[in-house]
Amino acid sequence: MTTNLLDFDLEGMAAFCEQLGQKRFRATQLFRWIHQKGASNFEQMTDLAKALREKLAVSAHITSLKVVSRHESTDGTIKWLFDVGAGDVIETVFIPESDRGTLCISSQAGCAVGCRFCSTGHQGFSRNLTTGEIISQLWFAEHFLRKHLGKGERVISNVVMMGMGEPLQNYSQLLPALKVMLDDHGYGLSRRRVTVSTSGVVPMIDRLARDCPVALAVSLHAPHDALRSDLVPLNKKYPIAELLEACTRYQSAAPRDFITFEYCMLDGVNDQPEHARQLVELMKIHAVNGLSCKFNLIPFNPFPASGLVRSQMPHVLAFARTLLEAGIVTTVRKTRGDDIDAACGQLAGDVQDRTGVGQRMAAQRQGMLAGIKVVVLDKDAA
Ligand code: SF4
Repeated sequence: MTTNLLDFDLEGMAAFCEQLGQKRFRATQLFRWIHQKGASNFEQMTDLAKALREKLAVSAHITSLKVVSRHESTDGTIKWLFDVGAGDVIETVFIPESDRGTLCISSQAGCAVGCRFCSTGHQGFSRNLTTGEIISQLWFAEHFLRKHLGKGERVISNVVMMGMGEPLQNYSQLLPALKVMLDDHGYGLSRRRVTVSTSGVVPMIDRLARDCPVALAVSLHAPHDALRSDLVPLNKKYPIAELLEACTRYQSAAPRDFITFEYCMLDGVNDQPEHARQLVELMKIHAVNGLSCKFNLIPFNPFPASGLVRSQMPHVLAFARTLLEAGIVTTVRKTRGDDIDAACGQLAGDVQDRTGVGQRMAAQRQGMLAGIKVVVLDKDAA
C-alpha cells in the first residue's frame, strides 16, 4: 500500500520526505503542488528531480474521494456526494456569496450524537473520516470550482466543519486537516475563516483551544438542560453550564472572537417568547465571566422522521428581536440550496440505506426532479 499524500499536514509531509531520504523542504514543494496547484500526479511537479518523482510514484499517491454526484441549486449552491466505501456517502456543499465562497465539509460518515432535528443524526454512525478524506473535500472542490467558474485564483475563502458528523469526536483526524487549511503552503486560510461546529464535546473544546483555536460555533438549540438534553443527547454528558464555561475558556485562546451559537428554530418546541427570555438570562450570567457570543437562528429543514416542524417566520423574528434588544448580536440564517437538500441538517439525509445512493438519488438519476440542475457521475470525472 502506498501513502496518500492528502493524509499529511506539513509536519507529516516533512517526516515522510525524511523517510524517503529527502530534505524537509521538499515537503513545502509537494504541499504547494498538491494544495495550491491541484496536482494529482508527480509528473506535473516539474521542479522536482526526475529521480525523486519516480521514487514518489512508487511510494505515494494523491487520491481524492470518488464523486457520486454533483447537484447545482438555482441559487448557485453546489452539493457533492462522495463515496467513502462500504455503501456510505458523505456530502460537501459550496455556498457562494457576493463577498465569500464557503465550503461546508463533513468529518464523519453519519453521526453518533443523534440530535432530534438532524437528518444525519437519524442515520446513525458509520465511521470517522481520515484526514485525507476530510481534506479531499476541500482539495477537490477548490480545484473543481476554479475550472468550473473559470477562475485562476482561490475560490473558497471560508471553511465550516458543519457537514455530516461531530468534528470533535474525530479530533485526531480533524487537527491535521485544520492545519492544512491554515498553512500558508496549503490553503492559507486565516484562523477566523475556518469554523469548527460542535454539539458540545467539552474536553475537546479545551484541546482545540490549545492546539488550533479556529472560529468556534456551538449547536445550542435550547436555553435549559431539560430541553437541550431532549434535542441534543450529548447534553446529558456535558450540560449547558459546563459547555458555556468551556466556551469562555476558549475565548482566552482567541480573545477578540465571538463564539457563534447555532439555534435551530422548531415550532412550539424551542421558539416561544419564554425560551428567548431564558436565553437572554443564560447569556447574561456567562457574559459576566467574559463570554462574547452571537446567535444564528436557523430555520429548521423538515424531514419526515423528525416529527418536528419549522418555526413560523413571525416567531423567529420575535425571538430575534428579544435577543437583539438584550444586546446580543443575532442573525437569521437564509436557507440556501433548499432545492437540492443542501441546507443544514439535511446533508445526505436521503442516503439512509447504506447500501447505495438511496431512493432520492435513484429518482435523480431518472431525471425526476424538475428545476434543479443535477449531474450524477459514475466516474470521478466531475
Ligand atoms: S446536528 Fe451535528 S452533532 Fe447533531 S446529529 Fe447532526 S451532525 Fe451530529
